[in-house]
Amino acid sequence: MKCKKCSKTAVVHLRQHNAAYCKEHFFDYFERRVEKTIAEYSMFEKNDKILVAVSGGKDSMTLWYVLSKLGYKTDGLVIDVGTTNLQIDSLQEFAKGISSQLKFVDIKDYLDGFTAPQVARLIKRPTCSVCGNIRRYLMNKMAYENGYDVVATGHNLDDEVSFLLGNVLNWNMGYLHRQTPFMRRTHEKLVAKAKPLVWLTEKEIYIYALLNEIPFESERCPFSKDASSLKYKKALNDLEIDQPGTKLRFYKQFQRLEFFKDNTVQLRDCPLCGYPTTSEKCSFCRMKERVEDALGKQKN
Ligand SMILES: [Zn+2]
Ligand SMILES: [Zn+2]
Repeated sequence: MKCKKCSKTAVVHLRQHNAAYCKEHFFDYFERRVEKTIAEYSMFEKNDKILVAVSGGKDSMTLWYVLSKLGYKTDGLVIDVGTTNLQIDSLQEFAKGISSQLKFVDIKDYLDGFTAPQVARLIKRPTCSVCGNIRRYLMNKMAYENGYDVVATGHNLDDEVSFLLGNVLNWNMGYLHRQTPFMRRTHEKLVAKAKPLVWLTEKEIYIYALLNEIPFESERCPFSKDASSLKYKKALNDLEIDQPGTKLRFYKQFQRLEFFKDNTVQLRDCPLCGYPTTSEKCSFCRMKERVEDALGKQKN
């Protein structure tokens, strides 16, 4: 197969675009797609300070790499929730290589010495939702306290369409409303959230990472094994094989829906930590209260 642009031998075939590329033109395609997504949603500009949420996996490492290659000012934030072994030294070395900085947070410092799986067990909630709650809260807090304009995460098209399918199957309107590639800053203490890789698939990111020799951990979180999102991913992969472009169409048509246009939610300050919330207390503080309750019960 030949490259669509230069007729050299192609290294990658993208069925959803009916196109094949050589290494050089695949990089071109990939990087332009990221730039276009950033521009399309006015996510950020070259002089904005961007905090990339880094897990060590291929998506976040690629995002960090590509944003810095494109000339954006990025730092990486690693949150150790206690589920996987983080290779901090190699992350630090990677940061140095792209003239960036690595920030590190240990959730034990915010949760009386507990890790996410321990908290989940204590309050009898799924580890994934506890972990997500902690990550969202700390990412925003770190970004706000250190003067970042935006938090960028490595969500890809496969992640987005599997969330979307799950949210549609359960008509989860609250989540559907928030499932957008960009959430602008609606409150001084609520930093903007951007997903610049949403129009790229897992496979495209994987190939880009390999060809650029971006180091990443392939270890999956041990708690996500049975998550329904994996089933939705599999179903969507089957559909995609049958009808290339299904994922892109599904997400694109969803983004065009009118209901994103009125997206104003009433925010108030959490009386315990001062960060904005839609409820009486923020979900992080409510979780901490449940931990304290559970510990109180254990003592009695
Ligand atoms: Zn080419
Ligand atoms: Zn709070």
